[in-house]
Amino acid sequence: MKHELPKMLKIERVIREAEGVHTLFLPYAGEVKAGQFVMLWVPGVDAKPAGISYHQDGCIGVTISAVGAWSKEVCGKKSGDLLGLLGPYGNSFELIGENVVLVGGGYGAATLMLLAEEACRRSLKTTLILGARSEAALLYRTRIKAMKLDAIFTTDDGSFGEKGFVTDILQRKLQSEKVDGVYVCGPEIMEKRCAEICLAAEVPSQISLERHMKCGFGVCGACCIDHSGRRVCVEGTIFSGADLLQTHEFGRYRRDSSATKQPFA
Ligand SMILES: Cc1cc2nc3c(=O)[nH]c(=O)nc-3n(C[C@H](O)[C@H](O)[C@H](O)COP(=O)(O)OP(=O)(O)OC[C@H]3O[C@@H](n4cnc5c(N)ncnc54)[C@H](O)[C@@H]3O)c2cc1C
Repeated sequence: MKHELPKMLKIERVIREAEGVHTLFLPYAGEVKAGQFVMLWVPGVDAKPAGISYHQDGCIGVTISAVGAWSKEVCGKKSGDLLGLLGPYGNSFELIGENVVLVGGGYGAATLMLLAEEACRRSLKTTLILGARSEAALLYRTRIKAMKLDAIFTTDDGSFGEKGFVTDILQRKLQSEKVDGVYVCGPEIMEKRCAEICLAAEVPSQISLERHMKCGFGVCGACCIDHSGRRVCVEGTIFSGADLLQTHEFGRYRRDSSATKQPFA
């Protein structure tokens, strides 16, 4: 177990990625593995997890969607303001084979970006399928354009890319060619569908799971997966899709801050 105090760091830069979505860059000299997260502490508000979306020029970037008290506070920060950082925490994605497919929905794209960069660095045949509600909500389009991969975008309203769901594109892809591994981060209903599609096609999937976390380093137990005891913050956040499909809660419910079951709609 890794226990430390948060480091108070000066924000180097803030960029707007989409409506209500900002990336904050913080100085970080250490190692980062694709798929890991950090705990970001806003004194007097809360400390919450965020995926690491950039690792460049001695900085890490976190991309935050302003939805509630903590995230609105984080998105309101400017360069020069202080933020507390704990981590990086969690396990990481493992690239398998030569032909890989990454599937992201909403801000789940953030957790996949370092993996996409690693796959390109290794010259793997890489397909990135990203979905969002609308064109305005799609993340990292300029960044992705500069990468050597096949990018497919979907929007729920058809305002950009294909109208429909990332899961339909994934299914078509797995039916049309031999894929070695699928890597997923997004809304859990989407993740479950991806895991089912991969299982049916006998392609291994790795899925980043999001659960309510209080500590982020395995002490509090808030993020344990029912009946398995696995802590999402330490043994995860990345699990095999086939394993998750065996659990009681994947795609059915998650627990809130008071451990009450909250079913997925
Ligand atoms: C491993 C991990 C990685 C994460 N990575 C990111 C990341 O890269 N970027 C990011 O923005 N967040 C990320 N999150 C979620 C983040 O930690 C917060 O839970 C989220 O920002 C909401 O916190 P809040 O206090 O602002 O809102 P809350 O007060 O918790 O919620 C306010 C309102 O927003 C709704 N809400 C809460 N969470 C979400 C959500 N995720 N989407 C839509 N509505 C929501 C609630 O239902 C409520 O109505 C991650 C979580 C985990 C566990």
